[in-house]
Amino acid sequence: MNISKFGKKFTQNSGILQLMDDLGNALNSNKPVNMLGGGNPANIASVNDVYLQMLKDSIQGDGADSVALDCASNYSNPQGDGKFITALVDFFNRHYDWGITKDNIALTNGSQNAFFYLFNLFGGAFDDGDKSILLPLAPEYIGYADTHIDGKHFIGINPRIELCDYDNQDGFFKYKVDFDALENLDALKNNQIGAICCSRPTNPTGNVLTDDEMARLDNIAQAHNIPLIIDNAYGMPFPNIIHTKANLVWHDNIILCFSLSKVGLAGVRTGIVIAKPEIIKAISSLNAIVNLAPCRFGASIVTPLINNDKINELSLQEIRPFYLKQAHTAIHLLKHAFKDLPQVKIHKPEGAIFLWIWFENLPISTQSLYEILKEKGTLIIPSEHFFVGIDTSDYRHAHECIRMSIAQPDDVLEKGIKAIGEVVRGVYKQG
Ligand code: PLP
Repeated sequence: MNISKFGKKFTQNSGILQLMDDLGNALNSNKPVNMLGGGNPANIASVNDVYLQMLKDSIQGDGADSVALDCASNYSNPQGDGKFITALVDFFNRHYDWGITKDNIALTNGSQNAFFYLFNLFGGAFDDGDKSILLPLAPEYIGYADTHIDGKHFIGINPRIELCDYDNQDGFFKYKVDFDALENLDALKNNQIGAICCSRPTNPTGNVLTDDEMARLDNIAQAHNIPLIIDNAYGMPFPNIIHTKANLVWHDNIILCFSLSKVGLAGVRTGIVIAKPEIIKAISSLNAIVNLAPCRFGASIVTPLINNDKINELSLQEIRPFYLKQAHTAIHLLKHAFKDLPQVKIHKPEGAIFLWIWFENLPISTQSLYEILKEKGTLIIPSEHFFVGIDTSDYRHAHECIRMSIAQPDDVLEKGIKAIGEVVRGVYKQG
């Protein structure tokens, strides 16, 4: 098939394609698979009950009275479902006093769709040369990696690694932003950065950038007159899978991206962007060309939960505690599987739905480990894909970690971690 450069770029093998394929195949396979690889949120029964009730409520009535029918049968404008946007404006002003209006919000088909737009708006070819998106703390979300239409315009900064305790146990570490490296980056000084972006909490590590780190990134972005994009897919106020003290800040130079996926509605494909009006207009224009209008299904389920703040209650009382419990279960199992192996360290679990495990000095790369484990029916994600915008050829740490989902039921965690333990022990032993 003779296809364009664009076609070639977007059909080549990518980390995200492998990840989504593994996820889909595992869900459709008859063979038991310990699925610790994907980013699918957990099925939390008490939360699902609420969504089911919302779905039932939305079907009530007929014609224009039926919210479900209205949303299913009519396009919104390219900015997104008007009632949902109004509900979100009131919600964010009520909780954060940001003074936003509907001109500050656009909806997208999942936040992945928003990142595709934003990275191509602020990264790529400009009149004064190429600009990249600066990712201040590698490793970062694998889904960013291949989003540029033309080339790859990311620059990542390797982390500072601090060893620490967690819950009175040693064997943990935390990544911190290396501000010396960041502030001295030639591309930043030479006006070759179009935006700064970080996920908070971070996929894959579960790190939560501190308020101080965020304030410093905010200052750097303002000083260089470029936006700071904050990916809040796991953040406040929903799904609020954050176990540290952290505040959410917004102003005109910040682009906040939210998602309904990790509250447990990944299939409704709803992303929410809060930004200054000219960015919202740009996103609406992109929506018109790429999608005509964003999907309204999520809006029909969630608008009432935004209006009555039930979304906060679900996040704080059900979703966050569920993932904290899963993190503790997985840590307990990992500590058991790797007792006597101090080389194995876990990133401090501060949020999100993953654990990030470091096998220091592992004799093989975790890409090879992934392949061995996949053969044995356990899926994890090897670390190198997450070092977006970094040349990892001389950076061993980037090949020594794995991301493991904690969204799965306890028995899957147990079997999966047992399999990882057996294989990794064998690999260390062989040397
Ligand atoms: N950002 C992060 C950090 C994610 O982990 C994900 C999905 O896993 C996304 C964005 C995209 O999510 P969605 O398009 O479902 O909103």
